[in-house]
Amino acid sequence: MPDFEFECPHCGGRTVVDEAVRRLLVANGCVVCGGVVTGDAFTRGTAV
Ligand SMILES: [Zn+2]
Repeated sequence: MPDFEFECPHCGGRTVVDEAVRRLLVANGCVVCGGVVTGDAFTRGTAV
């Protein structure tokens, strides 16, 4: 399963996440700033 690169549109925080964490971020918001996260914040299959 490919990972996703997450870049928060609010605080600019970036990290590589897997599908489970991606879903948590979409459900709960950015862990850093609490901003709303959508699918647009993720890029699939980025090289780590
Ligand atoms: Zn953020």
